[in-house]
Amino acid sequence: MTTALYTHSDCLAHRTPPGHPEQVGRIESVAKALEGFDALDRRDAPAAPDGVIGLCHPQSHIDAIAAAEPKSGTVALDEDTHMSPGSMQAARRAVGGAVAAVDAVMAGEVANAFVATRPPGHHAEYEKPMGFCLFGNVAIAAKHAIAAHGLNRVVIIDFDVHHGNGTQDLLWNEEKVLFFSSHQLPLWPGTGSEKERGKYDQIVNLPLAPGSGSLEMRNTYTRRVFPMIDAFRPELILISAGFDAHRADPLAQLEWETDDYTWITEQICDLAAKHCGGRVVSTLEGGYDLTSLAASAAAHVQVLMEKGA
Ligand SMILES: [Zn+2]
Repeated sequence: MTTALYTHSDCLAHRTPPGHPEQVGRIESVAKALEGFDALDRRDAPAAPDGVIGLCHPQSHIDAIAAAEPKSGTVALDEDTHMSPGSMQAARRAVGGAVAAVDAVMAGEVANAFVATRPPGHHAEYEKPMGFCLFGNVAIAAKHAIAAHGLNRVVIIDFDVHHGNGTQDLLWNEEKVLFFSSHQLPLWPGTGSEKERGKYDQIVNLPLAPGSGSLEMRNTYTRRVFPMIDAFRPELILISAGFDAHRADPLAQLEWETDDYTWITEQICDLAAKHCGGRVVSTLEGGYDLTSLAASAAAHVQVLMEKGA
């Protein structure tokens, strides 16, 4: 089998103001880094209808986002989060790509998948866009895996440098999803302490200190995350793949190396092979230094391809 790559040119239409870190160039850099990856099964990310986005958000939120889209230029929903003409369709593609990737992996069409779309999703809360995010892409994919495929045990690993506050909010009461977020603390958005555990103790926050680096990350995952995944026996593993913990990233100071993304992807794929036939769906979140983003995403996808072959 092979690895699917879901993306869509509509994700380039979502514009942010000049100088904004969450820029069109991110997707272009990732696409360029994956150009030579001939074995990828390249697929268009479909646009998710309201009913799919509604797995996690009220219709009032979907309508409010659609209504906020400007006719020209950009509009600020908060100090970080912006929309332009085309943003709603880009956001539908970001949700739809994650959901379609789950369908393809569950159907056995591909071994695993990477979803290279924007806007990212893990900061979007129930009725609140936040932190460059409009809808909770990975949380919706998890809810879809439960609703459409009857899964009872889904793992989400969020290794973006920021706390996945939106995913936590959307899945606070979801017993069937074991959610791990590793993130720098202190750092925006300020949530993600170990005391935040979800209704069923199914949310595990792993705060890491600024400057803690590769060894602390690897120890944390080895000691605290992987044994819990083994005990949970997931039927599917989803990844919120942000690459902004890289030492070159301008937004944070965790000081991870490109090789750390190779390592963590190998570990996750091996757990998936052990428990769920290798089923992994990874969705792009952050990563704002274009060079390290491209290198890290390529390292991540390289492992997905090797493990999925
Ligand atoms: Zn981030």
